[in-house]
Amino acid sequence: STHYSHVKRDLHKRDCFYMPKLALKTEVQEFRAYYDNGIVIEYKSKKIIIDSLKRPTKPYDAILITHGHKDHVNPKALHGAYPIIMSEETATIIRIRDNERLRYIKANPGTKLTINDITIEAFNAGHIIGSLSYVLDFKDLRIGITGDFNVESSIILNGNKSLPADIIIMEATYGDPDYVFPSRKTIYNELKTIIENNTKSGNVLLMGQPLGRGQELTALLKDYPIYIEPNIKILNNALGLKYGKVLSDLPETGSIIITGTQKTP
Ligand SMILES: [Zn+2]
Repeated sequence: STHYSHVKRDLHKRDCFYMPKLALKTEVQEFRAYYDNGIVIEYKSKKIIIDSLKRPTKPYDAILITHGHKDHVNPKALHGAYPIIMSEETATIIRIRDNERLRYIKANPGTKLTINDITIEAFNAGHIIGSLSYVLDFKDLRIGITGDFNVESSIILNGNKSLPADIIIMEATYGDPDYVFPSRKTIYNELKTIIENNTKSGNVLLMGQPLGRGQELTALLKDYPIYIEPNIKILNNALGLKYGKVLSDLPETGSIIITGTQKTP
């Protein structure tokens, strides 16, 4: 078809060495993805916005929230927006941290919703509690959105498995090969060794991102005498991790203190 040769010619012009089968599909020409204070996916007359940080301009079919980190959700901008899709845990994080209650449709890994003929399926992202990846199925084209994700399992989360999609839009914070870390198992063991060596005569202070590392450290060290910064403790309790004591004064020797690297998670 004309379309077909047009795509081929276009690819040639751009000096593409690799021509995926998909690039020959005419559907791709009607697909757009761009960043506008959130990832915007447009396909034919449909529009989905992911992790919108500003008040979304209408029309759109749905707003998806991948997880509760502040660079992915700004609840103040979403008052009155509908439909919003997110996990119950993400809604809890927004309620506890930001004191905001958004009207939303609940999604868990495995949830499939159809909105205006678009099937939206949620998957476990493995990043923080409540984090989701999504696949948007437009019937003739499936778009995967990873959100922040982790393929390796941790003490609280399973790793993200692959997404069944034709095109994947991937977060790439750790895409640089400089960021290759030891396995979780190695890190957990190293941490426990440090703790056991240093709690004999003192306390151990662990600092990390309150939302994410705060819960992982709490779960990992739940059988140790842990004291947790109030902000993290409140969040942990709401997320079902009711371990440790609230940090107020300096605890007795042999304690582990879990605290954040920033004031609010
Ligand atoms: Zn994140």
